[in-house]
Amino acid sequence: MNKPMILVIEDDPAIRNLISTTLKIHNYDFMTAQNGERAILLATSHNPDAILLDLGLPDIDGVEVIKKVRTWSNTPIIVISARSEDSDKIDALDFGADDYLTKPFSVEELLARLRVALRRAHNEKPEASTFINGDLKIDYNAGCVYLNNNEIHLTPMEYKLMCVLSKNVGKVLTHTFVTKEIWGVSLDTDISSLRVFMATLRKKIEKDTANPQYIQTHVGVGYRMLRI
Ligand code: CA
Repeated sequence: MNKPMILVIEDDPAIRNLISTTLKIHNYDFMTAQNGERAILLATSHNPDAILLDLGLPDIDGVEVIKKVRTWSNTPIIVISARSEDSDKIDALDFGADDYLTKPFSVEELLARLRVALRRAHNEKPEASTFINGDLKIDYNAGCVYLNNNEIHLTPMEYKLMCVLSKNVGKVLTHTFVTKEIWGVSLDTDISSLRVFMATLRKKIEKDTANPQYIQTHVGVGYRMLRI
C-alpha cells in the first residue's frame, strides 16, 4: 500500500508542525493548509486518505469545511478542537466528522485515532449483507445477530440501534444522530430512552458491561462501535 496521504488543516503553526513532524516520522504523506478555503481546494485536488481538521480557522468555520467535503467525499475526518469548542465538536460529528481530538492531545492519541479512521475507510463495504466484528456477526438480510455463532435475541429497538452502530463502525455517533436514525427525530426524551436501550443491548453483547469491548461511550457526545 502507498503511504496514506493526510491533509492537515490547522492555523496554529506550533500544532501544525507537531502534527506534520509526527506524520513524517510515522511514514505518512501529508499536506498542510492554514485556512478553510485552501483546505477545500487541497481536499478537492488531492483526495486525501484522511483529514485532520482544526475547528477554529481564521477564515471559515471548520464545520463548513466538513459540509463541503462531505458533498463528494467520504474520506475520514478527525476534528481537532479546543475545550471551549465542545458544541462545535458535536456539530462537526453531526455533519459527518468521524472522530475528534481535544487539545492538548498526545502524539500517541493522534496516531491511534488516525489508524482507526484509516481502517474504517479501508474496510468500508456499505452494501455488505453480513457484518463481522470480533465474535459478533450480523446478518442484515435475515435480521439476525450472533455472538460466538449463537443467535442472540434483540428487541426491534435494540436491533435498530445495533445496525446504526455497526453500519458506522469506527465513527463516533452523536446522541442526536443515533436517535434521528432510530426514531426519525431527536427529542431529549429519546436520548434518555437511548441510554436504556444501550444498557440492555450491552448486557446482551458485552462480556463486562463496565468495560465494554464493542460499544464505547463518549460522555456528553454519543457512542462508537469499535472495530475489533
Ligand atoms: Ca485554530
